Amino acid sequence: MAVNAAKAAVPSPYTPKLERFADATRLMLAGRDPGAYHGFVNPPVYHGSTVLSPTTHDLLNRTQPYIYGRRGTPTSDALEHALCELEGGAGAVLCPSGLSACTLALLTCLSPGDHLLMTANVYGPVRHACDGVLRRMGIDTTYYDPLVGADLAPLIRPRTRAIYVESPGSYTFEVQDVATLANVAHAHGLTVIADNSWATPLFYRPHDHGVDLSIQAGTKYLVGHSDAMLGTVSANAASWPALKQLHGDLGLCVGPDDMYLALRGLRTLGVRLRQHQDNAHAVASWLRQQPQVNGVLYPAFDDCPGHALWKRDFKGASGLFSVILHAAPDAALAAMLDPLELVGLGYSWGGFESLAVPFDLAEHRIASHWPEGSIGVRLHIGLEDPADLIADLAAGLQRFSAACPAREDAATC
Ligand SMILES: *Cc1c(COP(=O)(O)O)cnc(C)c1O
Repeated sequence: MAVNAAKAAVPSPYTPKLERFADATRLMLAGRDPGAYHGFVNPPVYHGSTVLSPTTHDLLNRTQPYIYGRRGTPTSDALEHALCELEGGAGAVLCPSGLSACTLALLTCLSPGDHLLMTANVYGPVRHACDGVLRRMGIDTTYYDPLVGADLAPLIRPRTRAIYVESPGSYTFEVQDVATLANVAHAHGLTVIADNSWATPLFYRPHDHGVDLSIQAGTKYLVGHSDAMLGTVSANAASWPALKQLHGDLGLCVGPDDMYLALRGLRTLGVRLRQHQDNAHAVASWLRQQPQVNGVLYPAFDDCPGHALWKRDFKGASGLFSVILHAAPDAALAAMLDPLELVGLGYSWGGFESLAVPFDLAEHRIASHWPEGSIGVRLHIGLEDPADLIADLAAGLQRFSAACPAREDAATC
């Protein structure tokens, strides 16, 4: 009843217009309306809170398309409509960070007493939110094996309301069978949430595989230049009214310049992703051959868990993967990473530049697959020339070996 009322109050903002075009063409057109802005190619950036009404009648009856900055501007509309175009959703909302998009999606379908199924390889701060604020609200989380597939059903309880997937998962890159999980979930009345930051809707469209709420950490590939924080949630028709309502009630909105940076990033998302893919492929293929490397977790490679699903479902692989190095002292890792000239040390990813973050394999469930002491390093491969990146990493691996103790044990360093 309440949902139906909300549905009537929150119609879909979006009518697809560009479906007959290929992705590359849609990226150029999505969200644009030059006729409304004196012919300028891009929409203006509206800095604004108050919107004036000409009469009391207009003010009280909300006759104008915009009523208050928080509730939307032509700039937010342009980005939201472009996202709908790409995601194939009924509506999309913008959040001040990727993490706030994740928590918004969770709160859209969970209430006190409910139970959540969360993939075990989820982005760390989302796990923190489940174990913190969601638990405090009386929402219980079960972490499931990302490769569980059709065996999900026994984990569903009477109060299970949602399943959250992240495919491929953070750091360990398992690819999930989202369509199968969504089938099982929908048979039990669950809402399906997906964090699709790695692929973006260009390489994978969650709604086409049964996902109700599709999240992007727009900070990453959408913005693409490491200069703004932003998150997006796109909903199918069933989940749109509840998402729109909660987004409004929580008062979430994004600064106009950051929205503009995302719109600007969107226009080159296609060419950037292709180049990230080519460069990552070159660097990862080379890394795989190196004696210091135990394995490379990249969904495009057949030794990555879920590779067959990646092949079935995805149109490409982006620039983020993990490399597993042989056991070595901490000093060897620092000797390798600290002097790198092109690969920066830093969290996040999705910008034009290459980055590395070491991580503790023991904290991740695949740890048992690797020899004791193996070291994980997540790499984001940027838009530099891959030959330069390989030379930088080759020097790093040499420093890594040189900093290891004598090599009687061939499995070490
Ligand atoms: C970075 C990241 C987020 C969070 O995005 P922020 O904009 O940093 O808050 C969410 N999910 C995944 C998979 C990420 O890598």
